[in-house]
Amino acid sequence: MKKQQMYINGKWIGSIGNDWFETKNPGTGEVLAEIPRGKKEDVDAAVEAARTTFESEEWQSFPPIERGRILHKVADALRADAEEIALLETLDTGKPLTQARKDVEASALYFEYYAGMADKIFGETIPVQPGILDYTLREPIGVTAHIVPWNYPLQIISRSTAAAIATGNTVVAKPAEDTPLTAIKLAEIFDQTDLPKGVFNLVTGYGYEAGAAISEHPDVDHITFTGSVQTGSAVMMGAAKNVKPVTLELGGKSPNIVFDDCDQEEAVDWVVRSIIQNAGQTCSAGSRLLIQDSIKEEFLKKVVAKMEAIQIGKGVDDLDLGPILNEKQFSRILEFMDVANKEGAAFLTGGKRQETAGLENGYFFQPTVIDGLSPKSYVAQEEIFAPVVAAFSFETEQQAIELANGTDYGLVTGIWTKDGARAHRVASKIRAGQVFINNYGAGGGVQMPFGGYKKSGFGREKGLEALRNYTILKNVALKY
Ligand code: NAD
Repeated sequence: MKKQQMYINGKWIGSIGNDWFETKNPGTGEVLAEIPRGKKEDVDAAVEAARTTFESEEWQSFPPIERGRILHKVADALRADAEEIALLETLDTGKPLTQARKDVEASALYFEYYAGMADKIFGETIPVQPGILDYTLREPIGVTAHIVPWNYPLQIISRSTAAAIATGNTVVAKPAEDTPLTAIKLAEIFDQTDLPKGVFNLVTGYGYEAGAAISEHPDVDHITFTGSVQTGSAVMMGAAKNVKPVTLELGGKSPNIVFDDCDQEEAVDWVVRSIIQNAGQTCSAGSRLLIQDSIKEEFLKKVVAKMEAIQIGKGVDDLDLGPILNEKQFSRILEFMDVANKEGAAFLTGGKRQETAGLENGYFFQPTVIDGLSPKSYVAQEEIFAPVVAAFSFETEQQAIELANGTDYGLVTGIWTKDGARAHRVASKIRAGQVFINNYGAGGGVQMPFGGYKKSGFGREKGLEALRNYTILKNVALKY
C-alpha cells in the first residue's frame, strides 16, 4: 500500500493536517493506496499558488503557442503510458480495461484538441460609429476550479483542465475521493512539463471538506463541476456567496426513442451498450427505452437476450461489465429496485446482485431490464446510475416526444428511425443538450459541445463552446 501525495505549487506534499484516507478496488475491496485528506487549509494553499502564478509576469507573458505545445506533450505522455494509466483507472473504478484504455485515449484527445486552440482565441471588431474603434478581448478568467466525479476520473479532469490551461488560466482540481489515482498520475505528467509551477494544482480530499472549501473560496474565478444534482446545487450555492460563475454537468435520465422503421439489430446493440458502458454509471447512460407499440415485444426480447449475454467480471478480467463503484452506490441501486417492485415493475431480466464465484467481494449488479412502470414513477424519473434500463411504449411521434421530454433532466437523446425527416423533426422538439440519430455518442467526440437542459445542468463542455467557460470578455472603445 503506497502513500500518495497532492501536487501544489509544483511540490508533492501530504495534507497540512497530515490526515489520510484509503482508495479501494471496487472489484475486490482491496485497498489500493492512502491518499492525503486535503481540507480548507490545503485548498487555500492551492488557490493561493494558482492566484500567484496567474498574476505572475512569467504566466502573463507566456506565449499562447507555448501553452499549446505543452498540452500536446501532455497528450503524448498520456499515450506513452496508456497501458499503465488504463490499469490504474481500472483498479480504482472497476471498469473493464478496454473501456479504461478508451478513456485514456479520449483524455489525450482533449489535450490535443485544446492544445490546437491555445493561439486561436479571438475577439471581434465592432462597427459602433465612425471615429470609434471598438474591439473585444477574450481574456483568461483567472483561477479555475475543477471538481471531478468518480465515473470517468481521467476523462473529466482532462476535458476541463485542458480547455482552462489552453486559454491561459491556472487550475485547482479535486478528484473524487473514491478515484484519485489517475488525477495524481496526470499531475505527475504536468510535473514533467515546462509549465510554470502553480499552473496545475491538485488537492485530494472529501467533497464535503475540500470540495466545499473550493466552492466557497472567494479567490476562485470559475468552478466546473460534474456530479449529482444535489451536490451541483450545493456547489452553486457556495459559488453564489462570492458571485462566481459555475458550469454544471449533472447527469440525466436519457432516452433512446425506437421507431418501428429502425434498423433493429443496430438499435438493440446501441441500446444495450448505452446502459452497460461503465456499468451504467455514466451521466449520458441510455437509461430509458421508448419503443413504438408495434415492435415493442420483439424489440424488448432482443434487448433482454443481449443483456443476458453480457459477461460480468472484475475490471482486469476485461469483460463487458464491471462492478459498481462502492457500497454506498450499490445500496442505492438495491433501494431503487425495492421501489421499482412497489411501483409495479416487471423485471424482464436482472434486478439483483450478481452471485458468481470469485466476485463475492465486489459490488456486481446484474444487467437489468424493467417494464411496466408508469413514466411518472420515481424509478422512471430518477437517475439510478446502474446497468438498469426501463422500457416504455408509445404510439405516435408526439407521444414519443412527450415521454422523452417528460423528466427533469435533458442531457442526451437517441433517435432510431430510417425516416430522415422524422428524425430531424423529433430532434428539433427534444429538450436535451445532445441528440444522436441512429447512433449513440458518435464515438465520444471531444469536438461536440456537451451539457444539459433543465436539471442536467448548464454551460457546455467539450468542443469550442467550452472555451467560453474559461474566458471573460472585455470591450475596448478607442476614439480617433
Ligand atoms: P457527488 O456529486 O456527490 O460527487 C461528485 C464530486 O463532488 C466529487 O469530487 C465529490 O468529492 C464532490 N463533492 C461532494 N460533496 C461536495 C460538496 N458539498 N461541495 C463540493 N464538492 C462536493 O456524487 P456522488 O455522491 O459520489 O454520487 C451520487 C450520484 O451522483 C450518483 O448516483 C449519480 O446519480 C450522480 N453522479 C453523476 C455523475 C455525472 O457524471 N453526471 C457523476 C457522478 C455521480
